Amino acid sequence: MSDLNGFSYFVTGGSRGIGKAIVQLLAKSGARVAFSYAQSEASAQDLIKSLPGEGHFAVQLKLEDPESISQAVELVIKQMGDLDGLVNNAGLTRDGLLMRMKIQDWDDVMNANLRGSFLVTQGFLRSFVKARKGSIVNIASVIGRTGNAGQANYSASKAGLIGFTKSLAKEVGSRGIRVNCVAPGFIKTDMTKDLNPEIQASILNQIPLGYLGEADDIAQTVKFLLQPGSRYITGQTLDVNGGMYMN
Ligand code: NAP
Repeated sequence: MSDLNGFSYFVTGGSRGIGKAIVQLLAKSGARVAFSYAQSEASAQDLIKSLPGEGHFAVQLKLEDPESISQAVELVIKQMGDLDGLVNNAGLTRDGLLMRMKIQDWDDVMNANLRGSFLVTQGFLRSFVKARKGSIVNIASVIGRTGNAGQANYSASKAGLIGFTKSLAKEVGSRGIRVNCVAPGFIKTDMTKDLNPEIQASILNQIPLGYLGEADDIAQTVKFLLQPGSRYITGQTLDVNGGMYMN
């Protein structure tokens, strides 16, 4: 499959989970891909070696650190020139009931998931505007749609990302730039692997399709939004959740 031959993309948090599946699918489709990791440099390098095609690379980027973001963005633009798209995928959780939630847990999640995605996007925006092209895909969550006890910080950050997406789509649509969200349901990754069997069972009960999603289910939707075939879609959030939440 080479439908993305000649296209280039940057994906945050490509070293594991959903981001890794996105990187793999884009590279398999013929695109050149750069991606970030926070800690796992070794798995990032292993992933690069395993990818088909040429010119892929990984860069360290810590969402909570504006300096690390601007250095990574600068390096990617220097090495790849004008990109065709950006995926704000990296994110984290610091769960706990609100009554006991520490300011640090609130700030960590908001700074990484919301402020970090804002800064990464802002870093690439000038180059997208100059090139009058670009598809930005933000990875939100079903929890940003429905809320979840114990995840007020995470839910607020992901709902914030959906509002961010709509506003930016209105700002930059006339420049040929599209901005969309994908809101995954429960997907089998490191983020969900420690859910206890009781919680797993109650989650499965809420999913009409009856199973957890795979990272590739999200990657397929992200690829759809990145490519020109979706050129008339902007400001939207696509829910990929087995029917768990229906908009
Ligand atoms: P994951 O398996 O935990 O992987 C997270 C990725 O983000 C890794 O590449 C990690 O890099 C990077 N990362 C973590 N903390 C970071 C930080 N502070 N700064 C920069 N990068 C950081 O997560 P996932 O399950 O694939 O989730 C990916 C996205 O989908 C997240 O935004 C998540 O909120 C969203 N999502 C996931 C699910 C799900 O069920 N899994 C559902 C809804 C939404 P290292 O490898 O270096 O640590």
